[in-house]
Amino acid sequence: MEKVYWIKIHDQESSIIRAEKVRRLIERSGMLNGFESEDMVGIKLHFGEKENDTHIAPAWVRPVVEELKKRGAKPFLTDTCVLYRGQRHNAVDHLMLAYRHGFTVKNLGAPVLIADGLLGNNEREVAVAGELFQRVALASAALEANGLVVMSHVTGHISTGMGAAIKNLGMGFASRKGKLRQHSVMKPAVSPKKCTGCGVCIEWCPADAIRMDGDKAVIDEKKCIGCGECLTVCRFHAVKHDWRMNERELQQRMAEHALGVVKGREKKISYLNFLTSITKDCDCFGKKQDPVIPDIGILAGRDPVAMDMAGLDLIERLTGKQLEAYSYPDTHPRWQIEHAEKVGLGSCRYELVEVD
Ligand code: SF4
Ligand code: SF4
Repeated sequence: MEKVYWIKIHDQESSIIRAEKVRRLIERSGMLNGFESEDMVGIKLHFGEKENDTHIAPAWVRPVVEELKKRGAKPFLTDTCVLYRGQRHNAVDHLMLAYRHGFTVKNLGAPVLIADGLLGNNEREVAVAGELFQRVALASAALEANGLVVMSHVTGHISTGMGAAIKNLGMGFASRKGKLRQHSVMKPAVSPKKCTGCGVCIEWCPADAIRMDGDKAVIDEKKCIGCGECLTVCRFHAVKHDWRMNERELQQRMAEHALGVVKGREKKISYLNFLTSITKDCDCFGKKQDPVIPDIGILAGRDPVAMDMAGLDLIERLTGKQLEAYSYPDTHPRWQIEHAEKVGLGSCRYELVEVD
């Protein structure tokens, strides 16, 4: 049975103590032992959208960089372009954001490389034995790297229920085309009764699919790529979509993209999940968010399905409620875990090992 290592973190602990705990977790779990001299290793992160301050801090990444270097590996920090029009839409803005948030060579001793290139189309198609896909489109650098360390901030999520290791792999390493293929199951609509005509959704829509009809926003279904941005940015809850019909499939699509990243090199990929500053929404939100759950700790392991399952179990065990109760109650993250296990990404059976 796969082991998942857990070190506790408390709300008041300093960043220095947290960094030290990351180092201890690496040591005790042996999670980096598969990496060798000259391996180019991508450390997959989310640098946090503008104004977000609950993302994984650079200080907690430094021990990973240093431990990889001790093994003679060449680490780099990485992420991909996103669909929405925030600060991570193209590589230039994304790099500037990463630097502003402290992910610099000076601080960490490793460069940042946007894995799918300037515009998100530096990609490769990979064959997978999925139920929905036979091929998935992924960021080139993710596949060219000799290995990956996937560092995920665990949060709730409006359309996938949870952002953690499976999402960081499947959505986080999909090229723009891969992301569009995943999102194309969601088709939202605006409720004219609730729409105030503020126009914010129009600014954020990456497909120019929203226009004003009088003082109400209207979505053109033919242009809509289903990215879900209008759902997240509308403060008036005027944008809706049929959650039950589509969300499960979005999570399944994501899990099959994750399979494409991992397939055939399981021994060269390891994971750290941060159950710290757990927020209702993910770090793509361009605003500060208050945590909804006290800090639980950091998990380390080699199986993304076991990692995410252990995180959900810990939240439920320690707080008495499931993650979705704190974020979006109708959006169940276990859908992605069930499907990921079914297509062979990993196992949701694990042994939890507590590290002092
Ligand atoms: S953000 Fe919401 S309220 Fe504003 S125009 Fe769009 S749908 Fe209407
Ligand atoms: S209308 Fe469609 S493409 Fe535009 S933001 Fe909403 S979901 Fe995305």
